[in-house]
Amino acid sequence: MAPKIYTSPFPATNLPEQSVFTYLFSSSAATNTVGGYDASAPAFIDAPTGTRISRAQLKQLSLTIGHGLRHHPNLSLKRGETILIYSQNSLNWPVILFGAVAAGLRCTLANNAYNSRELAFQYTDSGAKVIFANEDGVATARETLKSLGLSQSETEKRIVVLTNGLEWAGGPSAPKRSELSGLLTMADLLKLGTLKEEEKFDGDLANETVYLCYSSGTTGKPKGVETTHKNITSVLECVKPAFPPLNLGVDSMLGILPFYHIYGAVKLLHFPLSQGAPVAIMARFDPEQFCANVEKYQITISLIVPPVLVVLSRHPAVDKYDMSSLKTLFSGAAPLGAALSKQLKVSDRLLPKRKGKGPVHILQGYGLTETSPTTHLVPSTHAESKVGSIGVLLPNLEARLVVDGDGDGNIDAEDGQPGEIWVRGPTIMKGYLNNQKATVDAITHDKWFKTGDIAIRDKDGFYYIVDRRKELIKYKGFQVPPAELESVLLTHPDIADAAVIGVDSAKEATELPRAYVVHANPDSVKTDAQKHAFSESIKKWIQGKVARHKFLRGGVVVIDIVPKSAAGKILRRELRERAKVELAGR
Ligand code: AMP
Repeated sequence: MAPKIYTSPFPATNLPEQSVFTYLFSSSAATNTVGGYDASAPAFIDAPTGTRISRAQLKQLSLTIGHGLRHHPNLSLKRGETILIYSQNSLNWPVILFGAVAAGLRCTLANNAYNSRELAFQYTDSGAKVIFANEDGVATARETLKSLGLSQSETEKRIVVLTNGLEWAGGPSAPKRSELSGLLTMADLLKLGTLKEEEKFDGDLANETVYLCYSSGTTGKPKGVETTHKNITSVLECVKPAFPPLNLGVDSMLGILPFYHIYGAVKLLHFPLSQGAPVAIMARFDPEQFCANVEKYQITISLIVPPVLVVLSRHPAVDKYDMSSLKTLFSGAAPLGAALSKQLKVSDRLLPKRKGKGPVHILQGYGLTETSPTTHLVPSTHAESKVGSIGVLLPNLEARLVVDGDGDGNIDAEDGQPGEIWVRGPTIMKGYLNNQKATVDAITHDKWFKTGDIAIRDKDGFYYIVDRRKELIKYKGFQVPPAELESVLLTHPDIADAAVIGVDSAKEATELPRAYVVHANPDSVKTDAQKHAFSESIKKWIQGKVARHKFLRGGVVVIDIVPKSAAGKILRRELRERAKVELAGR
């Protein structure tokens, strides 16, 4: 039977084939523009200090950093080599990222909460040559390289510090910490000269990899997602018709989502730049500072994850500041169902603050690291009528809803029935780095990418996520791969077997990782008190082993045996049902 293929309600658009840098920064002296907008307009602002860099400055700084990356004797990086960025959000980010892209390098983006074990995996797996770490991350970066057997002098050459001081951008300086002396800083890379122009990736070369974010996909441990220049330039073009248009001089965005996640990287570092709107950068989400910065920078749009809405529905800071400029909150990276959206009433709470300017639209989008990321968006025209939907398919993409994803993929869901979203088009990753097996499992021979998410599609072409068929757990938008936590748990001397699932927390609007463990000596955990003590000890123990978002906040339960299929696959659905019963009424 012919597959049932859905297309976008928006007409297909022409897609460029060039480097991300060329796409964003081509300039014209005649019109004094960079990337089609006023060269002197602000591109990024450091929210705490107000230090700003214009579009022209960003281009120049990037070309200069690019030159430093290629020619500094400690680095001497070549086209196609990889740098790793390990830092909280800061003004350094766009400069180092676009500097690397200008130099023809690839960037792998690491969660800045990673410990040295997690960072060492990504550094090695991605083949990175150097770590760009913010000041607080330097100790972990050093530990990482040491754990990989690098000598002291080699380690010192492979770390570049993204300093707290912003002198290089005309901003305030910060005291220099003694433990950082001897390490290169970004300012050092700005002293050596400048590239005349960026490395080109025209035509077919646009299919070369530019970013490597890590995702566990539908199963297993994190894998490097090969995102190409073409993937990025395509997604920037494809979201245009569905996203509220950004107006130069009017719109500005608040950058609270982490730049190391594809959602923050594309939607905050690339998209506003491609539309001429500035982004005020915050290191992390803080409710008081969020509201204060909306007032200070007259923010019109902010990208958020569902737990931020929970905070905004209750926090007193919302009443303290003038938030009348805010017109759109855009939620992604995790489910925002209709029930939660309605219950939180954030739009109602913000309405009086809009002073007659209409409601704040709470829109949702959907996508994955593997889809660069956005595939679906709710246009603002449908903010009220399609609450809980992830939106319509973006142009140039095709979708199927498949009911036998594990079979030969020939059965598509009937109209209105659930199926796994399969997507095809120019924003689908090239594949998982050095992992042909995982790539073939994820992308069919005729180029359909299997998302692992189950959705229904209504008669107007709006999609609703109803379930997830993959293992992945999302804690506040961050990926928690169960397989990774399970392998860490199995290193505990008293754990004979382990399985990890996600459980919902309505209070925090997120999933929480919950472990089921089998004790190596079952006789020692017979009573409830013994089980409880063991569970608590494991919860604490894991905190020394993994980044914060992977902590076992959903609990640890001692069981006799992990339910498994004949083939040895953990029966997670069975555990999820069991957890529902255990947690009912809490
Ligand atoms: P990541 O690669 O970290 O962006 O994670 C992608 C996964 O996050 C998707 O496969 C979904 O399971 C989940 N996700 C992202 N956006 C949404 C959304 N709007 N609603 C439900 N789940 C989402």
